[in-house]
Amino acid sequence: LKVTVTEIPIPLSYGPAFEGERVRKDDLFAECGGRKSTCCELLRMREMEEVEDGRIEVVGPDIDELEPVGVLPLAIVVDVAGRKMQKDFEPILERQFHHLINSAEGIMHMGQRDISWIRISRQAREKGFKLSHIGDILHAKLLSDFPSIADKVQVTLYTEEDKVNEILQEARTLYNERDERLAGLKDESVDTFYSCSLCQSFAPNHVCVITPERLGLCGAYNWLDGQASYEIDPSGPNKPVAKGEVIDQHKGEWQGVNEFISQASKGNLERLKAYSILEDPMTSCGCFECIVALLPAANGVMVVDRDFSGMTPSGMTFSTLAGMVGGGIQTPGFLGVGKFYLGSDKFISAEGGFKRLVWMPSHLKERLRNMLQAQAEKVGEPDMLDKIADETVATTEMEVLEYLEKVGHPALGMDPMM
Ligand code: SF4
Ligand code: ZN
Repeated sequence: LKVTVTEIPIPLSYGPAFEGERVRKDDLFAECGGRKSTCCELLRMREMEEVEDGRIEVVGPDIDELEPVGVLPLAIVVDVAGRKMQKDFEPILERQFHHLINSAEGIMHMGQRDISWIRISRQAREKGFKLSHIGDILHAKLLSDFPSIADKVQVTLYTEEDKVNEILQEARTLYNERDERLAGLKDESVDTFYSCSLCQSFAPNHVCVITPERLGLCGAYNWLDGQASYEIDPSGPNKPVAKGEVIDQHKGEWQGVNEFISQASKGNLERLKAYSILEDPMTSCGCFECIVALLPAANGVMVVDRDFSGMTPSGMTFSTLAGMVGGGIQTPGFLGVGKFYLGSDKFISAEGGFKRLVWMPSHLKERLRNMLQAQAEKVGEPDMLDKIADETVATTEMEVLEYLEKVGHPALGMDPMM
């Protein structure tokens, strides 16, 4: 007999109402991650005898030893054992940390994997909140939300620099393994995609269609995750979508997908062309890691991520663009995407693909360098990365065009986009 924990033993109010709440600078007691320190999270499958259910351990200082504003490195390691647990379920359970930790009043959680960021408010600290309570939340909720796969959960929170870095290395190896499982898989080699409607509480008509070569726009769900999530809960947010008859392989349009989105969007959408930014493009909720936007004069597209607050050559900042692109409506010329889609062979392949990329912030180019370089070589443009303009050489569409002409960017030799 399994005991179900329903009460969460923490000194704070807890529930979905607190999910979207921010912790601002003035209210801040302590933080982990967010460029201030390393912060990563890792969920690992373990054998039954390796996990002591309910064991929560903080290795290193907890926040009660800090003065405001305190900064700690943090690695959250959750070990899960269960008779029906599978390695493929690790990313699904790990992706839950975000909303589970966010649901505590006065605690903010952003990001995932090795870019997570946790803020703890002064009010939460006054009520007695400590890092160990993150362990209590994850233990209680993973057991109660996933009773069919999690039988035992133990949580260790490391806050010493050396140990955090050691976990970070282990975590990165595992993240890579997860991403690589997908590497050889092509859209053509499967007959089923997966939908994700997790975001319909914010954007009621939005549905992500996740294919092997195009992950969800939040960057946290890929095709294998959709499959695993459906296996865990067939009535949950991820459903198989049969491709059905091919309408247009080049633009990525299938009869079955059209029927699915028309029903899932309650009649608001009729057609989807998965590989196009100009014709019936994918919609967005608001979670996109990056926004891709057409730059007609430069005969290409730009991409911008959340961390870039300056003006882009589209004449809009990220937040202005985000207001246009979100909300579940098709906006030809604009796409919300997960950053790994930029390295996919299906990245706006209907319009010529990777060679259309003409501008991106320099930090994003650096962060994705290995993936982008591999793609540049694949399309026969090994020195293309240097030809993509960034904010240091161009902030208007005309400056982008001038730069492209100077360096001989391949987009200028392609068919006109408009
Ligand atoms: Fe799912 Fe898309 Fe929302 Fe990500 S952005 S959680 S894939 S609906
Ligand atoms: Zn969303």
